[in-house]
Amino acid sequence: MGMKKIGVYTSGGDAPGMNAAIRAVVRAAQSKNIEVIGVLQGYVGMIENKFTKLTARDMANIIQRGGTILKTGRSQEFLRPEFRAKAVANLKLNEIDGLVCIGGDGSFRGAQALWEEHQVPIVGISGTIDNDVYGTDDTIGFDTAVNTSLAAIDKIRDTADSHDRIFIVEVMGRDSGYIACQVGVAGGAEEILTPDNLIPIDKIVEKLKESRAKGKTSSIIITAEGQKPGRAYDLAEAIRKRSGLDAKVSILGHMQRGGTPSAHDRILASRLGAHATLALIEGKKNIMIGTQGQSLIEVSLDLVTKNKKPGDTSLIQLARLLSV
Ligand code: ADP
Repeated sequence: MGMKKIGVYTSGGDAPGMNAAIRAVVRAAQSKNIEVIGVLQGYVGMIENKFTKLTARDMANIIQRGGTILKTGRSQEFLRPEFRAKAVANLKLNEIDGLVCIGGDGSFRGAQALWEEHQVPIVGISGTIDNDVYGTDDTIGFDTAVNTSLAAIDKIRDTADSHDRIFIVEVMGRDSGYIACQVGVAGGAEEILTPDNLIPIDKIVEKLKESRAKGKTSSIIITAEGQKPGRAYDLAEAIRKRSGLDAKVSILGHMQRGGTPSAHDRILASRLGAHATLALIEGKKNIMIGTQGQSLIEVSLDLVTKNKKPGDTSLIQLARLLSV
């Protein structure tokens, strides 16, 4: 028996472009006469039976909006099998035959548990500003977050240059340095620090001194926040102590999550959302739709959740090469 009704939810960290993905899911489903139910607040709403019918018309005027109209959520309860069983009972109650999950790797681990324990067919698409999902080159929201950070850094460059200052700019990325790497190269940073590239303070000080000796009067260092947001202050203090150079700190924070999605993210979200929905309706399950170059690919959720995406060190080398 084919599907009649599917659910869609956004889960974990929010990302600009999630709304464009929801729109694509609802409208692709409509083209096959499949009804779509939105689950509110991710797994929180699935456990608490917060479901709402979504029509193609409800999707008007959301493609350009940041955030997610379905809200997102993190659920400690969902980590326990009894609450996942409750979520599945609610899916049955609402006659939902399959799900499109828009989220990051945590959300996919949840989706996989639903498949393994209750055989709920789920197709995932990755929406996270961090771009740290294994099995896909790109994630919804990453491009927008990079451009938002870059716009801030361009402003910081003006003041850094006017005052001959060193600036340490902290961007988002707890375990991942993708935003830092792209912003670092695009923003002409002197050094890029990521969770996989923690350069010793001595090396940074040496580099800054060399730059000054060569006549450079201002420098920008980009650091991913890592496990402890605010560590840019520790770095500035260490630079001050070891070199006497005064480094200012700017922590970009949550502004990087918001804002209207870029054209790139809207197109990516539209492609992934439509493809995931059609794949689910055709009977595919337990996969994520990702990108490889310009192509869309289907990757098993098992591979996605069991592997860590490697950091991109080539951009760190490039920033160094070009900051002479
Ligand atoms: P993201 O999807 O952005 O990586 P999280 O890591 O916060 O965000 O995951 C979102 C939610 O997915 C969690 O709050 C939790 O409810 C669920 N989840 C995460 N890991 C697991 C897991 N191993 N088993 C079941 N559910 C999980």
